[in-house]
Amino acid sequence: MAAAKTDKGSKGGAPVKKGKQYHMYKIYEVSGSSLKRKNKTCPKCSVFMANHKDRWTCGKCGYMEKK
Ligand SMILES: [Zn+2]
Repeated sequence: MAAAKTDKGSKGGAPVKKGKQYHMYKIYEVSGSSLKRKNKTCPKCSVFMANHKDRWTCGKCGYMEKK
């Protein structure tokens, strides 16, 4: 007579990812038909620099520029 409800307890499936979801931060700004770079670029290796609170840093060569 036991008709146990087993709604829960499904095994398998894709693991649910929790936590931070990184979104592409907008380094480009579209104005009309041209793109504008919002981020600074490194003067040494011309890659995009990371925008910190009070400084810009280059992840490639380690160049740092204060704001
Ligand atoms: Zn650099």
